[in-house]
Amino acid sequence: MNTLITVPRVALVALSIAACATPIPSHAQPRNQAQAQAQPQAGVVRAGTAWLIHAGALIDGQRDQVRRQVSIQVRDGKITAVRAGYQRPARGEQLVDLSEYTVLPGLMDMHTHLTVQMSPRSYSEGFFLDPADYALRASLFARRTLMAGFTTVRDLGDHDNVSVSLREAIAKGWVVGPRIFTAAKSIATTGGHADPTNGLNRELMGDPGPREGVINSPEEARRAVRQRYKDGADLIKITATGGVLSLAANGQNPQFTPEELRAVVAAARDYGFTVAVHAHGAEGMKRAVVAGVDSIEHGTFMTDEIMALMREHGTYYVPTISAGRFVAAEAARENGFLPDVVRPKAAAIGPQIQETFARAYRAGVRIAFGTDSGVSPHGDNAQEFVYMVEAGMPPMVAIQSATREAAKLLRIDDRLGTVEPGKVADIVAVRGDPIADISVLTSVAFVMKDGKVYKLP
Ligand SMILES: [Zn+2]
Repeated sequence: MNTLITVPRVALVALSIAACATPIPSHAQPRNQAQAQAQPQAGVVRAGTAWLIHAGALIDGQRDQVRRQVSIQVRDGKITAVRAGYQRPARGEQLVDLSEYTVLPGLMDMHTHLTVQMSPRSYSEGFFLDPADYALRASLFARRTLMAGFTTVRDLGDHDNVSVSLREAIAKGWVVGPRIFTAAKSIATTGGHADPTNGLNRELMGDPGPREGVINSPEEARRAVRQRYKDGADLIKITATGGVLSLAANGQNPQFTPEELRAVVAAARDYGFTVAVHAHGAEGMKRAVVAGVDSIEHGTFMTDEIMALMREHGTYYVPTISAGRFVAAEAARENGFLPDVVRPKAAAIGPQIQETFARAYRAGVRIAFGTDSGVSPHGDNAQEFVYMVEAGMPPMVAIQSATREAAKLLRIDDRLGTVEPGKVADIVAVRGDPIADISVLTSVAFVMKDGKVYKLP
């Protein structure tokens, strides 16, 4: 957040050097212009830094109990107090009356792709769109995601580092969106799920390498991880097995050797990265868990043995039931848009994920909320809660998977994921009781991120 303050100074210095003049003192700038430069705040609907929220009900992300009639004090982006009863606002404090609402921590989606959205055009648009086109479109998806109550997301795979630029643009207040932790370009092996040239003609196919996210040895695995560090990624994503939507025959086979997996994890640890792993088939999934990765995404054909291994290693499962439902429906649709090589994979894998999720929950695997939005529509993220509860997870546990547990997976639980004094003020609210009817989470009425208000009832 301090970058917000340093930006205009840098701009000022650049300006004065260009003009070959003595530096202009900052107070010489018109006040409103200086402020606009210092704090661009796209999308903020009510300015202010001191808030008192009256919450009719509070699910704080930490306790299993719902609290009634609570006052939450917010100062300069942080939660400073959470007290029983409705306090009177202090001088200079703005009251946000959510006495008819249930208040929750900002929601977190651990699996999104903000730069893409599945559609009949998604297999060909890469020939027509430039990175700038993807970035501008992604700003729309980012806004939808935030307005749906998701204040933090992981982006698990982009092209041209567009999500890194998007993360920065949002952090600087140029664009409205969630706080992003991005893997940038996913890492695959040749012909693997995230090989960007699958299915192209031989001339276009070329021979992508670690820089493009394609590796074929432990050495190249290390290079690919270090490249992502240089590119500004926050974590690493690998595709340890085949996948549904890539133009390749197998959706399940193992695609990394154990040596390559160990090299990815070891290099990632050197740079403080966690490792998220796309996996459908059991063999590739098991190798990844044994290598010590942090999360398994999709996890479609997870066996009891793998669930036990995940419990032992503390590996998170990010289910993405939404993606499974979306591709299964599209595969079953007559005249659907999935290519011939993709449709049978979608039909086999799509319907399985919700069932696997139910088994994994019962087996005690740690679960963090994730949708794979970009496959399913951006902004519909909360529909995943409905699928989770449908599969047998209690509503409170589902909410905690998208708050406290997601924050633990991201290793940011010291500052985010719960509504408690000292935490960053990411707060959302819904009308109704999500414990009685989880689907109320699909219409979020209030959104605060970093203590800034983006949506009011
Ligand atoms: Zn994905």
